[in-house]
Amino acid sequence: MAEEFAAVDVIIAKRDGHALSDAQIDWVVDAYTKGVVADEQMSALAMAILLRGMAPGEIARWTAAMIASGERLDLSAITRPTTDKHSTGGVGDKITLPLTPLVAACGAAVPQLSGRGLGHTGGTLDKLESIPGWRATLSNDEFKRQLQEVGAVICAAGEGLAPADRKLYALRDVTGTVEAIPLIASSIMSKKIAEGTGALVLDVKVGSGAFMKDLATAQELARTMVELGKASGVRTVALLTDMSTPLGLAVGNAVEVEESLAVLQGGGPADVVELTLALAREMLDAAGLTGADPAKALESGAAMDSWRAMIRAQGGDPGAALPQARHAETVTASEDGVVAAIDAYDIGVAAWRLGAGRARKEDPVSFGAGVLLKVRPGDRVSRGQAVLELRTDDESRFAGARDLAEGAIRIAPAAPAPTPLLLDRIA
Ligand code: URA
Repeated sequence: MAEEFAAVDVIIAKRDGHALSDAQIDWVVDAYTKGVVADEQMSALAMAILLRGMAPGEIARWTAAMIASGERLDLSAITRPTTDKHSTGGVGDKITLPLTPLVAACGAAVPQLSGRGLGHTGGTLDKLESIPGWRATLSNDEFKRQLQEVGAVICAAGEGLAPADRKLYALRDVTGTVEAIPLIASSIMSKKIAEGTGALVLDVKVGSGAFMKDLATAQELARTMVELGKASGVRTVALLTDMSTPLGLAVGNAVEVEESLAVLQGGGPADVVELTLALAREMLDAAGLTGADPAKALESGAAMDSWRAMIRAQGGDPGAALPQARHAETVTASEDGVVAAIDAYDIGVAAWRLGAGRARKEDPVSFGAGVLLKVRPGDRVSRGQAVLELRTDDESRFAGARDLAEGAIRIAPAAPAPTPLLLDRIA
């Protein structure tokens, strides 16, 4: 029988800066999942981990214990190489939408288990649910069948996958312990390893709109996750990418689907195309599909065919009109000059206040709500020129969003030095 501990001894050990033993970690994660360790005890332990950190060996064991709390999918019957992407979350980050069918069109199978948005960052499932008929929930058998037949699946992670993380993440969200690198790394990697992918590309966001506000912390998170992936036999690479400015020109749900469709049609904003192609190349490389050219798959329409098949397979109508918000207002430039910055965090919160996001897990989102950027950093503007469009279904929401949206735009006399989108690569 596995060794038993008193939760308070495990908390005290970490509080006093000691490394937890494998047996302590296995016990506490299992006991918390079963409700034997109480929420208040796990909150104290999570705070001790945030303040004291964990050694690499502890993080690896914690991750393994979270995987062992649930099922591990076996994708060995899939005949194409499997490769996935995970983003740590950002504003306007719709990359999963064009990327998944694009990489499938290049010969890989992409098992993309995604989440919903909470707070200022959007969720992939919320965006896709704006497509009439599309359903996020698949059984494990449906998931595997679609992965084999279409090559692309984006769906909700099943209840059986890393249930310890589901419980712990909700607790961290309300106890100020989300930002602990060992907890973020084990949370993300336990789900990705349990999902069964053979290769994984991490998009670690850096900047105001991301969890990680500075490059050094993001690099540490990326290194921790890459090591966890490799130690579990998943070929893992991380790109560190800028999230001080929203990605693309659309932030919301249906508006982000529209922008993704533009990319799949061979157009779309340059930054969205650049990141989609960079991640696609990394995913194909990690899967051993080095001969495929994702730029050609966008141009030829093969990626769009793959998108249609993926949406149809989950009950969606890829040709249906997308929901539109009932009301729109424009934000104009307060002076002449050059757009020096568009703050990702402020735009994310503004979109959230307009109804694109949710305050509590169970809240519905408005599919049509969001923010459209009419300019990008470096663009010259004149006073009175439209710089943002705010969209909502509920006019009373404009008041809470307008100030933030106006404050997000910084205008300067001269053009700022352009910031690169791709900041680093860790393999
Ligand atoms: N995403 C996750 O899945 N877990 C975290 O802890 C942070 C971001």
